[in-house]
Amino acid sequence: MTPDAYQELMQQFAADPTAARTKVREMVAEIAGSDPRMGAVLQAITARESAVVVVDENEPPAVEVIPPPAPAIDAADLARIRRLVSRLEGELDDLRRRNDLLASALGACYLCWGGDAGCPVCEGNGRPGSEPPDRPLFREYVTPAVRRVHPGGSVPPPPSPVKGA
Ligand SMILES: [Zn+2]
Repeated sequence: MTPDAYQELMQQFAADPTAARTKVREMVAEIAGSDPRMGAVLQAITARESAVVVVDENEPPAVEVIPPPAPAIDAADLARIRRLVSRLEGELDDLRRRNDLLASALGACYLCWGGDAGCPVCEGNGRPGSEPPDRPLFREYVTPAVRRVHPGGSVPPPPSPVKGA
């Protein structure tokens, strides 16, 4: 490098460090074309530059990227969590099935039982009895409970299904 070129480069570093770095990288890349050893130098420069946070006043402040901490759970923990999630999914399925059966037995909305005005199924109008109960499910779930409350009393039959429904 001639003294003039060196002087020019140093002035450029003072005026615009980012542009000067780019120029140095280009110069090294040019040399690397004829000298394989300079290829390693170029790689080292590139790796170093990607790790350096360059502050440009036109850009929002750079945020230092902190690598996330190593996960605190190991494979055994993960296996336990997977088993737990699987068990909970099974339990949720059972509860949903039971909820849907009982809602049908009572003629209630299976989603909200009339408790949610924003319900996409009933708009909050799905309280028990809002729809004709499912007769077999009514006999299976409601009749025994009523007999328990009123032993010896008569249990009203489930309502007939609405014609055309
Ligand atoms: Zn509902």
